[in-house]
Amino acid sequence: MSTARFAVFGHPIAQSLSPRIHAAFGRQCGIPLEYTAIDAPPDGFAAALECFAADGGRGCNVTLPLKEIAFSLCTQASSRAQRAGACNTLTRRDGQWHGDTTDGAGLVRDLTGRQGLDLRARRVLLLGAGGAARGVAPALLDAGIGELVVVNRTPERADALVDALGEPGRAHSRYWEDLRELGDFELIVNATSAGRDQSSGFTAPLSLVNSRSVAVDLNYGEAAIPFLAWARSAGCLEAIDGLGMLVEQAAEAFELWHGVRPLTDAVYAELRERDKTLATAD
Ligand code: NAP
Repeated sequence: MSTARFAVFGHPIAQSLSPRIHAAFGRQCGIPLEYTAIDAPPDGFAAALECFAADGGRGCNVTLPLKEIAFSLCTQASSRAQRAGACNTLTRRDGQWHGDTTDGAGLVRDLTGRQGLDLRARRVLLLGAGGAARGVAPALLDAGIGELVVVNRTPERADALVDALGEPGRAHSRYWEDLRELGDFELIVNATSAGRDQSSGFTAPLSLVNSRSVAVDLNYGEAAIPFLAWARSAGCLEAIDGLGMLVEQAAEAFELWHGVRPLTDAVYAELRERDKTLATAD
């Protein structure tokens, strides 16, 4: 069996765990593959992707800040990618890129499976409106949450995300400055990359939290520290990082490319062991 080429594109990308995760899945499933990390700034991503395809690239993951550009470069996109307007998984078919997003499915699988949460009817606050937020918002709605409030530093991006969701009865955007007036939430999801800037902490009104609130950061490792520290000090019942989502979204992408669903618990446990030294990149 020849070795197929896969990669993850991002900027920066050096600390990505995706090569390690996909290599572990490949070994587990007996599928030989090459999976590398490729740094591509936004203005060089299209050329880098074509180069990768010309060199035999069969599929790739895409991470920040490239997910929305990736969507624009795909000839076809799955319905969930169209709803998100962002892609994290591209597959080469008949000389064209087909886009999908596995972030939302990965988050929901981690929360409902590994963490045992029931998302139904929950009031959810989503912080952020970048590529990851766009991926997880439709999946949270599909999982049966009661209400989704999207807040982003740049409010126009929150408005655009909510418009794309097309569920005015359940999904709204609000201003960051108005967090204090939004009431409390049973699930608070941090989908911003703010925690990557280690020079600043995370602050938000305590009024967002009630005794059942669960806080989830899509980040993991050092980048998750500020938000999770706030969540614990604010009295959240649970504070969950994005490591489980990372492994689950990778498993979903692996299944798309190879037609086999890998088992995730052993890979998750291995990464959790190393967690204290992790930096984020996916
Ligand atoms: P992105 O497209 O670059 O979006 C970044 C988001 O963070 C935007 O909403 C941006 O707001 C916001 N932001 C950045 N700096 C901020 C600050 N100082 N204060 C407030 N908001 C700030 O990135 P992305 O792809 O959505 O990824 C977001 C994060 O999720 C990343 O750190 C990534 O590692 C993580 N992630 C994890 C997984 C996983 O599997 N665990 C999957 C996907 C993403 P503006 O619109 O105002 O710029």
